Amino acid sequence: MIEIRTLDDLPLPARVFYRVDYNVPMEDGRITDATRIEETLPTLKLLREKGCSVVVASHFGRPKGKRNEKYSLAPVRAKLAELLGADVQWADDCVGVDTSGLKAGDVMLLENLRFHAEEESNGESFAVELRKLADVYVNDAFGACHRAHASIEALPRLFGKDTSAGGLLLRRELQFLQQITNVDQRPFVALLGGAKIAGKIEPLEALVKLADTVLIGGGMANTFLVAKDVEMGGSLVDQDSLEVAKRILGGKERAEVVLPVDLVVADDLANPTKIETVDVENGLEAAQKAFDIGPKTVADYGSRLKAAKIIFWNGPMGVFEREAFAKGTMAMAQAMAGNGDATTVVGGGESVEAVKASGLADRITHISTGGGASLEFIAGEKLPGVEVLRK
Ligand code: ADP
Ligand code: MG
Repeated sequence: MIEIRTLDDLPLPARVFYRVDYNVPMEDGRITDATRIEETLPTLKLLREKGCSVVVASHFGRPKGKRNEKYSLAPVRAKLAELLGADVQWADDCVGVDTSGLKAGDVMLLENLRFHAEEESNGESFAVELRKLADVYVNDAFGACHRAHASIEALPRLFGKDTSAGGLLLRRELQFLQQITNVDQRPFVALLGGAKIAGKIEPLEALVKLADTVLIGGGMANTFLVAKDVEMGGSLVDQDSLEVAKRILGGKERAEVVLPVDLVVADDLANPTKIETVDVENGLEAAQKAFDIGPKTVADYGSRLKAAKIIFWNGPMGVFEREAFAKGTMAMAQAMAGNGDATTVVGGGESVEAVKASGLADRITHISTGGGASLEFIAGEKLPGVEVLRK
């Protein structure tokens, strides 16, 4: 069990350096989804109630260590002020800022941490500069905790055990993800999909050891089916992962690995002229490409999800971005949301997007804000940003 220091362990009120993940989706300077900001409001409110002033710091995009207005956090400042219902002061840089005048309840947002190359290289001298801005450190940037970056690792190390802790969001993330890795209830069903296997090999191998059932869909299933000699036509297949797929199918791990029995196929993704359902046992024709799981698979996976006590989902069952191929993914979201007995956790960028699009997000126990971080955590890897905050 990983236990981190929490807000209760800090000498508050204080001037707080609050590391968040405001790497929000943006189009033309407009925030299209403010979830990552909303998720930090409970910690911000609590800190302000306790009489703290809060210096908020985040990364945004990949400016590669250089100042670039395209990656400015300025649009986030306005949104944060709106959601918080309070003024948010602005600092045009994240170092060399005078925070000594901040009063109880004041909130200041710093410009993008990644405008400095030392952020991503975990630079000690940069961390020393950040350290000057506050008296205590709080981290809620779960989505960045798998990276040993200066504001995530070196900085809390400089603050030391007595003045650094995780916020409410980080605690919640760890609580639900640990419930999965400790598996206190069974059956534990993992639902995995997405485009490829590559990049998800470790979590996949961890999940076949932990779960009772691993249901596979999406592009990931294509590769597994090829590994079983099914003819997959023009479908997306992750050739480099065929050996891994064979090993997982041939392994004697705990989980039963279940593959689709039927698929929705088409000749073309953007302009399909012929959409059909095919049984996997017949294989696909050369011109056919699989873009979703079929109705028999939906029924099978759905009933297994309904009987589960723990469900972890990563990776859509098909190209849900297109309505014609979204049925499988939406049906899985419904099956999960409909199981009121289970602890249900969804992690991963597109998976979370799909659950939100289904309108059922509030019936999922926990939606992880960190895709990569949640997968690494489940795979048993140590997250630098979490390790440094352990009790
Ligand atoms: P997450 O972000 O949830 O971890 P991934 O990034 O692994 O998920 O994969 C998401 C993408 O996989 C989606 O954009 C979806 O369109 C794509 N995808 C799912 N199934 C297929 C398929 N059969 N063929 C091609 N792409 C697929
Ligand atoms: Mg993704």
